Amino acid sequence: MKSDIEICRDTELTPIDSIALQAGLLSEDLTPQGTLKAKVKPSVLKRLADKEEGKLVVVTAITPTPLGEGKTVTTIGLAQGLAKREQKVMACIRQPSMGPVFGVKGGAAGGGFSQVAPMEKLNLHLTGDIHAVTAAHNLAAAAIDARLYHEERHGYEAFAEKTGMAALRIDINRIVWKRVMDHNDRALRMITVGKNQPGKTINGLEREDGFDISAASELMAILALSKDLADMRQRIGRVVLAYNIDGNPVTAEDLQVAGAMAVTMCEAIEPTLMQTLEGVPTLIHAGPFANIAHGNSSVIADRIALKLSDFTITEGGFGSDMGFEKACNIKAQQAGRGADCAVVVATLRGLKANSGLYDLRPGQALPEAIFAPDDKALVAGFENLKWHINNAAKYGVPVVVAINRFPQDSDAELAALKTMIEQAHFSTHVDVAISEAFGKGGEGATELADAVINACQQPANFKPLYSLEQTLEEKLMTVAEVGYGGRGVELSDLAKQQLAELKAQGHDNLAICMAKTPLSITHDPSLKGAPTDFVVPVRELKLCAGAGFVYALCGNVMTMPGLPEKPAYLALDIDEDGNITGLS
Ligand code: ADP
Ligand code: MG
Repeated sequence: MKSDIEICRDTELTPIDSIALQAGLLSEDLTPQGTLKAKVKPSVLKRLADKEEGKLVVVTAITPTPLGEGKTVTTIGLAQGLAKREQKVMACIRQPSMGPVFGVKGGAAGGGFSQVAPMEKLNLHLTGDIHAVTAAHNLAAAAIDARLYHEERHGYEAFAEKTGMAALRIDINRIVWKRVMDHNDRALRMITVGKNQPGKTINGLEREDGFDISAASELMAILALSKDLADMRQRIGRVVLAYNIDGNPVTAEDLQVAGAMAVTMCEAIEPTLMQTLEGVPTLIHAGPFANIAHGNSSVIADRIALKLSDFTITEGGFGSDMGFEKACNIKAQQAGRGADCAVVVATLRGLKANSGLYDLRPGQALPEAIFAPDDKALVAGFENLKWHINNAAKYGVPVVVAINRFPQDSDAELAALKTMIEQAHFSTHVDVAISEAFGKGGEGATELADAVINACQQPANFKPLYSLEQTLEEKLMTVAEVGYGGRGVELSDLAKQQLAELKAQGHDNLAICMAKTPLSITHDPSLKGAPTDFVVPVRELKLCAGAGFVYALCGNVMTMPGLPEKPAYLALDIDEDGNITGLS
């Protein structure tokens, strides 16, 4: 089979204005970006205010291997399958970060015959939204250090007199806003800024700082959760950058940088319209992390797609304990719109990886044996799939299991898994289909499309696990006990103290975002399958007042990845005609 980029290059694409027209967008709704991409103005929502919304389908997965089990492939494939069934459909996905593109995972445009095209545009830069987030974020970082410097240089009172602005009296030891860039660069995790020549002070105040990857910026989560430009502006203003010497928060509004940050991101708020290989209109917007943030594409893109189509297909990062939980408890509560159906992606290799019968080491390739038929491992791994189906059911939605077929998979083993699902009992409507979207495009996903159409006709009663009025501590307990099926949380002394502080500062009504490993439904990546007897340790809490959540660090979470020994960029090149090779 041809590589993803070869398949993409050999496909004749439709001009984006025709795709837009077909989606119901008018030229006044668009800012074209060349012939194959266009920005969609959120003002289209005013024009479509009276239109009824279609169904929202959220694609999630079993506990994944580090390679990913094919949610994006299934999201795009399902959209193409629904189009084959003459349904009006749009897909909404996140914009890939360049860190993983050059690092380990590769691109995130789908794969095989279910891709967003042109995949090289999607995977690299696209329309610059990530760069805008980076620039806005680093503007605030520069503003903090500049303000520290000027207030220190003049003294607080003289500074206030000279500028007519109150001194912020930022505590140099409590600056919580790092710098960001869109690369995997471990050498920047801990840095010193403000270094000076001996005897000089013009470079500012020396302090420890560090870089995160841009996708980990709170601004990325804000972009994904904002309803409109005004909402984004307000949220940026609420971002806490530092604390002052009295221990009170210093926000972007206090630093008077929020307006300029919003200006920097004013085009980023427009989703980018692209197409799948089969011409299905697809909106690309935002790319927040799925551990320290909520891992879903944007509320604005969903709202536009829901107005324009009968089916909106979107994806939440990692397994249903991560992206789907956050789609329901964070995104849906902020957007006021929950899912109508969950699609749980399962693969034979992924289930076997969850059996606990294979020796899987983080950062190492999967053993070849995992691709060969293995009844015992499949039966053991099935417990993980059952867990994820029951998990989606907790949110009151019907479930469709998409068995994502890999080239190595045998018919007999796929059929055996399908029968196991059909014969199990669940508390919600559960349908199952084998998806050949990767190898056959939409034609390989019509069975899945039929199952989704059927599931969307079942009574759905979407409900999040907690309400925002509950306390932060209650929300933490609910996610650990009801969401994960564990025995609750154990707060470190630091986390207890932070909970009290957050409550005192009036943040008890924010959502909880669990920052934990995606490789287990627990906090411990070595616990495979469907563990029950565990307590989730919460080490530290971090406030994201603009995004509207507090994230809870449960274990080590990497916010600036590093490059491996053999990174994906080794394969990348370009010829004299501009053809890119080696992107997958
Ligand atoms: P996720 O969105 O769940 O992280 P992706 O859809 O990005 O997963 O798929 C992960 C990787 O596996 C991608 O490189 C994709 O092309 C590949 N892949 C997914 N499904 C299949 C399949 N059925 N056959 C072969 N490769 C696949
Ligand atoms: Mg994906």
